[in-house]
Amino acid sequence: MTRLIIPQLGDFDEVEVIEIHIKEGDSIEKDDPLITLETEKAAMDVPSEFSGTITSLSIQLGDKISEGDLIGEIASEIQEPESKQVDEQKNNDYDLIVIGAGPGGYTAAFRAADLGLKVALVDKNSNLGGVCLNVGCIPSKAFLHAAKVIDDSKEANIVGVKFSPPEIDIDAMKSWKNNLIDGLTSGLDFLAKKRSVSVFHGEAFFQSRTSISVQLSSDEITLHFKNCIIAVGSEPLALPFLPMDPRIIDSTGALDPDHIPESILIIGGGIIGLEMATIYSSLGSNVTIVELTKALMSGTDPDLVRPLEKYLAGKCKIIKKSTQVMSGEATKEGIKIKFKQAENINEETFDSVLVAIGRKSNGPLIKLNKVGIQTDENGFIEVDNQMRTNIDNIFAIGDVVGNPMLAHKASHEGKIAAEVISGKKSFMDARCIPSVAYTDPEVAWVGLTEDQCKLENITYKKGVFPWSASGRSLTIGRKEGFTKLLFDPQSKKIIGGGIVGTNAGDLIAEISLAIEMNCDVEDIALTIHPHPTLAESIALAAEAFEGTITELYIKS
Ligand SMILES: Cc1cc2nc3c(=O)[nH]c(=O)nc-3n(C[C@H](O)[C@H](O)[C@H](O)COP(=O)(O)OP(=O)(O)OC[C@H]3O[C@@H](n4cnc5c(N)ncnc54)[C@H](O)[C@@H]3O)c2cc1C
Repeated sequence: MTRLIIPQLGDFDEVEVIEIHIKEGDSIEKDDPLITLETEKAAMDVPSEFSGTITSLSIQLGDKISEGDLIGEIASEIQEPESKQVDEQKNNDYDLIVIGAGPGGYTAAFRAADLGLKVALVDKNSNLGGVCLNVGCIPSKAFLHAAKVIDDSKEANIVGVKFSPPEIDIDAMKSWKNNLIDGLTSGLDFLAKKRSVSVFHGEAFFQSRTSISVQLSSDEITLHFKNCIIAVGSEPLALPFLPMDPRIIDSTGALDPDHIPESILIIGGGIIGLEMATIYSSLGSNVTIVELTKALMSGTDPDLVRPLEKYLAGKCKIIKKSTQVMSGEATKEGIKIKFKQAENINEETFDSVLVAIGRKSNGPLIKLNKVGIQTDENGFIEVDNQMRTNIDNIFAIGDVVGNPMLAHKASHEGKIAAEVISGKKSFMDARCIPSVAYTDPEVAWVGLTEDQCKLENITYKKGVFPWSASGRSLTIGRKEGFTKLLFDPQSKKIIGGGIVGTNAGDLIAEISLAIEMNCDVEDIALTIHPHPTLAESIALAAEAFEGTITELYIKS
């Protein structure tokens, strides 16, 4: 008889049994759920480690249980050797070592383990998930959601609903955000464990072309690999002339504030800077945005940025474009910043300054030169379309190989590298990678942009559908958006698209699929879209291009 025991549950203790999936006499398979527990973060199934027949049950609904408690007993058909994982951990030779457990790294490690490789995943952070889960995509979207709730409550009077001004409890907001992160990162621990991926928490450096050293909290160990994937990501660029002062923060600091500053200067009008401007203006700060170039979110078609800029201009104190930050001085009153716009120099003091001017590669920090891995002049690792570096058994993925620095690009590349290492003929041959600013309104684009077509002399024609003619857009009280599709005028194939408006980030996926599938205008226009939805605007933009649209009157 084999005892079914509650496994390690992360940080939880005394959690409630809310469902029991087995009874005496049941025949079950390995991994079938035995019970469901409710932690303060999420409901969690406890799967069986064995196949066999349940002979006894030792728990009841509502019991509070902890690691090591007995669930019941099973007459097990195959007993897994308990020491298997321990033996594997002791043996430091791996088919694959992945350095960095962000969305690129953990995806690569899990895919490779699923394909039968013995895998180690190393990260210097105590949480898996990298920038994306811990200090990037997830916390920023959590705060953006809070910002939207605040804004929605203020704008509700348009629909005849009045709320009192919202009270903001920044500590409660932070602990809500931290709980989300904990739930997701402990989910990754669980997924790694289920796949027998050995996880090491420590800083890794190359020792040779087949080994790394890992600085654990207690000692340094050497791990050996047949193949290695570098997925160490990126970190924020700093402005070296600004003083060291806790009031000068980067995106990581901005997503863990101890108070809401009365005034904040955001240096950098890119996606991250504008998402932060959306958050802090909703939280009640006086926000100033300063951007060195003449456009916000440069590289994005200006028509897509315009509605966002207009909306932000109403929420922020000022947006200074074509303006350079010359210097900063820490004073008792705040951080005094000197700006230069054309020939004019002026100064202003802010409670807080957020630097969001871009990110740099972490590649140079792991002793790449010891193994001769080539990088470009900015430290981004050069790879081929199978994510292989110039060293045959070493691959690199995600932010560390350069733009676009996006989580979905990192995870896609992670799968390719894992599959190539496992002997599959996989390639990075995606036609397009969508980009999204989760601002209000959201801005999303994919494939070719109009600016790019003009620059590269690519002929295109576009179909545009303004959301002011969308019933759904009007019902949510926001009509500033639009959807545009770019087509090759000869073949009528879709080559790009952009959306500005509520939920643009979700809607862009359809255009990405259309580009991947090489759709022409009829494929899109003749696909029946549900009404009334914002997604409809994609078909209507295609109809506008074809001249078959009835929702607008376009003189032929
Ligand atoms: C504020 C913010 C918001 C963002 N929002 C979005 C978004 O909405 N959508 C989107 O697609 N992207 C977003 N991004 C970008 C996204 O987070 C990154 O593109 C993504 O995390 C890159 O994944 P990665 O696997 O390459 O590396 P990372 O996520 O950077 O992970 C690298 C990991 O390597 C570890 N590491 C580094 N050096 C070592 C070492 N020597 N030894 C061991 N471990 C090491 C680090 O601890 C880290 O965990 C955002 C970024 C920021 C900063």
